[in-house]
Amino acid sequence: MTCSRLRLPGAALAATVLVTGLAGCATETTTTESGVELVSDGELTVCTHLPYKPFEFEQGGEVVGFDIAMMDLVAETQDLETTIVNTGFEGIQSGQSLNNGDCDVAAAGMTITDERARVLDFSDPYFDATQALMVPADSDATSLEDLSGGVLAVQQGTTGEIYANENAPDDVELRVFEDLGLLTTAVATGQVDAGINDNGVLYDFANTNDDVEVVAEFDTGEQYGFAVRKDGNPELLDAINTVISDSQEDGTYDEVYAEWFGDAPAG
Ligand code: GLN
Repeated sequence: MTCSRLRLPGAALAATVLVTGLAGCATETTTTESGVELVSDGELTVCTHLPYKPFEFEQGGEVVGFDIAMMDLVAETQDLETTIVNTGFEGIQSGQSLNNGDCDVAAAGMTITDERARVLDFSDPYFDATQALMVPADSDATSLEDLSGGVLAVQQGTTGEIYANENAPDDVELRVFEDLGLLTTAVATGQVDAGINDNGVLYDFANTNDDVEVVAEFDTGEQYGFAVRKDGNPELLDAINTVISDSQEDGTYDEVYAEWFGDAPAG
């Protein structure tokens, strides 16, 4: 089987490049002087799942966001360009995308869980999150119980889907959406009675959409991690962890946070 990569013209010149339509098969890797293995020479190839604003989303033809900015910092320390691969969240969280050689690292607002840690190597935690509930602005619902007999939107393969399965009343119908954009639209247009997802992305959406409201948070105590292939790239994992701790110490993390959330992190 031939493995090929589709590239956008002039891709090498852009700081952040979106690549779609990967053949999805194992690629030969190259190794940098510092021992970091790469699926593509000179590039930090990042798997993500769009849109997950403000962590990763398209703006003016470019993929941007908090996670992307953190990946750019990692790429900088290794003298690499960042290349973004947009792919399904299921393939990211199951380790399949990394195992296929589609990318070197996954950056997808992904919660560190024991189950995922069996198939991925996670970085140190870089972001705290909880689940949250968003409803149309004219709704009176403020809890999962209030949704009894109604429809709750969940995003496929996410911790929000798991939380809803475990905690929503039995007579709530869970409707599964492929991505966050479809879920938020379903809530905003009243196709569903509510949607569950991470607090950061739902507050971001509600801040600019008057037709929805975030009415509850569930204290799930989640933490996001970047991930590399299981037992596959300890040097890259070290480089990522160094960027997380250095950026938190020297103020860069707060700057990136302020850029994408409009405020310094609390606490
Ligand atoms: N943090 C959630 C999870 O890991 C959602 C991530 C996402 O949808 N990109 O399941």
